[in-house]
Amino acid sequence: MADFDVLILGAGSGGYACALRAAQLGLTVGLVEQDKLGGTCLHVGCIPTKALLHAAEVADSAREAGQFGIQATLEGVDMPGVNAYADGVVSRLHKGLTGLITGRGITVIEGRGRLSGPNEVTVTAADGAEASYSGENLVLASGSYPRTLPGLEIDGERVITSEQALRLDRVPRSVIVLGGGVIGCEFASVWRSFGAEVTILEALPRLVPAEDEACSKALERAFRKRKITMRTSTPFQSVTTTDDGVAVTVEGANGEQSVLEAELMLVAVGRGPVTDGLGFEEHGVHLDRGFVVTDASCRTGVANLWAVGDIVPGLQLAHRGFQQGIFVAEMIAGLDPAPIDETAIPRVTYSRPEVASVGLTEAQAAERHGAEAIKTLTYDLGGNGKSQILKTQGFVKLVQRVDGPVVGIHLVGDRVGELIGEAQLIYGWEAHPEDVAPLVHAHPTQNEALGEAHLALAGKALHAHS
Ligand code: FAD
Repeated sequence: MADFDVLILGAGSGGYACALRAAQLGLTVGLVEQDKLGGTCLHVGCIPTKALLHAAEVADSAREAGQFGIQATLEGVDMPGVNAYADGVVSRLHKGLTGLITGRGITVIEGRGRLSGPNEVTVTAADGAEASYSGENLVLASGSYPRTLPGLEIDGERVITSEQALRLDRVPRSVIVLGGGVIGCEFASVWRSFGAEVTILEALPRLVPAEDEACSKALERAFRKRKITMRTSTPFQSVTTTDDGVAVTVEGANGEQSVLEAELMLVAVGRGPVTDGLGFEEHGVHLDRGFVVTDASCRTGVANLWAVGDIVPGLQLAHRGFQQGIFVAEMIAGLDPAPIDETAIPRVTYSRPEVASVGLTEAQAAERHGAEAIKTLTYDLGGNGKSQILKTQGFVKLVQRVDGPVVGIHLVGDRVGELIGEAQLIYGWEAHPEDVAPLVHAHPTQNEALGEAHLALAGKALHAHS
């Protein structure tokens, strides 16, 4: 008899979602965690960064109040106050999650776990005591850590990761953000709103390179207007610390080196899997560059051993982890859950402006279906009343298979992240433009822009030129 029906290593988005669903299905659950329940997303990821972005929006609103006829001035940014606000949000959610986990009868095992047998995890507690636990099923969910580049050392003071960036007690005068992906763009946006001089360095030719090219262009345009400096196609070479900051050497387009100076450098070059030294390979788990290789059902290939979340190659997003965790719990309970379609997972960059998408980019759709078999339509937010009220610019871009369903939806603009829910249903239900066109969208909302774009694609443009 095993100690638990399901024993989970790691209580982040993937691990705790699996625990909650498994317990709901009547299974006994052990949840091993070395730090705090909730993992990266709750403590040093999604939640605190979005709180910071909201504080940044408040700062922008105060600064730009005059545009709306309101007299206000931005006196300054009190970082300890901002941090206290973010901490308050995190701690309320942490308390709620802890209550949920206890309430469902899940056994939390505190300490660092490692795979010590085919169905066994050995946990070392803070005081050094060791104990082993067995599970009929084991779920690996040890998450990810901020990665760096070869030879680039994080000192935690001048050269920092997102975790240290979240703990800054001041607004830096100037920052170099290394990496123009989601995390880099979000921090760049926050710091700019707080008044810092920001430079983004990106080795690839565009920001948010995983998004549709049109979104990258719109984001770059908006960032340029906000006086965020961007150096794309600019590989990082080295960094040295100076008396009052960092000096960063980069390689320009012509191969020439140049040196950029700032108070801080944020390293946001991606996240690596936490799998080292945890006994995974010793027990037959196949790793690829440290990531756990699974099939589409999150099975590792070792009997009753599953993996979920950021350690599995693919989108590193909390809601993907939740979905995989729920999926695995249901598989273990003998249900028949619907397979997870990675392309249907919504993606949002919460910068100002936001970038949100679901489905295929135009380039991916052209590659998959052939360029002549797809059609695109871009609806400018200039025609959307609510976006004008908010004074935001951007668009809705639809990618459709000719005479077929919409296979990609791409949005840019303030607050468009909130529109991704409808976009996701359109994509997930393989809706044709004609299916969406008759749906009534409340006026004046930004949602209307999605409706208008589908009307236009169905040949019935209302507030747009046909
Ligand atoms: P994690 O959340 O990393 O959890 C793993 C857990 O396992 C941790 O609690 C860790 O302590 C524990 N653990 C590891 N090893 C052991 C061990 N040996 N023994 C015991 N416990 C162990 N995603 C979004 O969807 N939206 C966002 O807006 C968003 N913003 C982000 C912003 C930032 C700055 C960052 C860094 C990430 C962001 N993410 C966002 C990504 C999201 O946080 C991750 O995709 C998600 O947390 C992954 O969940 P996970 O369960 O795989 O791993």
